[in-house]
Amino acid sequence: MKMLHTTQNKVELYVLKSKLDENSIESIIKNEEPPLAGEIPPAVAWPELWVLDDSQFGEAKKIYEQEISRLQSHQAKWTCSQCGEHLEGQFDICWKCGASRS
Ligand SMILES: [Zn+2]
Repeated sequence: MKMLHTTQNKVELYVLKSKLDENSIESIIKNEEPPLAGEIPPAVAWPELWVLDDSQFGEAKKIYEQEISRLQSHQAKWTCSQCGEHLEGQFDICWKCGASRS
């Protein structure tokens, strides 16, 4: 069993896990409910996605890389060309001046 990915973002792990499920790769999520902050350093307590069968790890890694680049391009920060405001990737319109992402 090998760890594929760890992140604070549980949703990201669920998205990845469902992709692995679609490809018949068995996986589990550990540390789904991390201890409260302060008990363990946060990086240690992040949820982890594990691939059960080592022989499928290479394939899982490919799916992971595809998904991560897709997620990250979707979440990429951008700068408004009108007013220069820095915006998070989930916004398509500048909240400050109303210009749309170019
Ligand atoms: Zn703007």
